[in-house]
Amino acid sequence: MVPIFDAHCDALMTASEQGRVIWQQSQEGQWDFPRMGMGGVACQVLALCSTREKGISPLNQVLIGIADLYRALKEYPEAFLIRDGDDWGRLRGGNLGVVLALEGCDALEGRPEPLEVLYALGVRCLSLTWNLRNELADGVGDETSGGGLTRLGRQVVREAARLGMVLDVSHLSTRGFWDAMGMDDGVWVATHSNCRALMDHPRNLTDDQIKAIASRGGVVGINFYPPFLTVAPQATIDDVVRHILHVVELVGPEHVGLGSDFDGIDAAPVGLEDATRMPQLVQALGEAGLSLEELRLILWENWLRVFQRVV
Ligand SMILES: [Zn+2]
Repeated sequence: MVPIFDAHCDALMTASEQGRVIWQQSQEGQWDFPRMGMGGVACQVLALCSTREKGISPLNQVLIGIADLYRALKEYPEAFLIRDGDDWGRLRGGNLGVVLALEGCDALEGRPEPLEVLYALGVRCLSLTWNLRNELADGVGDETSGGGLTRLGRQVVREAARLGMVLDVSHLSTRGFWDAMGMDDGVWVATHSNCRALMDHPRNLTDDQIKAIASRGGVVGINFYPPFLTVAPQATIDDVVRHILHVVELVGPEHVGLGSDFDGIDAAPVGLEDATRMPQLVQALGEAGLSLEELRLILWENWLRVFQRVV
């Protein structure tokens, strides 16, 4: 079976809120190490999110998330954190690889310097904003302002590219997206965004945006969140397949992958309720007519290619 690389999951932040740990299989939530293994996911990007409303500083929220991951890796020895190029070779024989991503840069608290420390702690993927504006850029939730990347945002992009982090446009405002595409620095992807042509939602990408990511060698990770997939009250696995096929038809099978957003979403498509259900999606993609080679690219090789280029 083809291994799976999933480019986005919020379990690191939500598990503790739900009173569970990611090294033990739970009935709660959508993702933990045992369920990752059962679903055939060999590499998982885990996001560190932070908000300004929690009563704990965004930086401390991120540091606590990293501490939780370090503890989980001790408790679950088959899982390991990918830090440098040699680590990709360990993604064999049932080992579970984890890539740490910073989702939104609120934790930088308006300064570029903490980025190097977060890199040293293992962060290898970075998005500038969540939905709201911060010191680096405007998110999609602030779309009406027309704002893009700030001077600090551009400085952080250059620094992240220099350190060796993949840059993520998911959640960025439209203007921010095109500002990012206009920069020479960085390998840019969308870890968890869908197709605006199929579902008109501000978090989804237009065809022009998908083409821009592809022309820079990037990948779009398809998100399982029902409101990003369909107007229907309930999404199905076929909706995920439709969004994947749209990117394939638009820019080829080399520029699409998975970005489930498990544990960041309060609902999931029927049949894709948690990480153990990934094989159902693989089967549906096969039935949709994709070749084994195309499946390999979409499920594994595309993300591996992009992350290996940077890390
Ligand atoms: Zn997100």
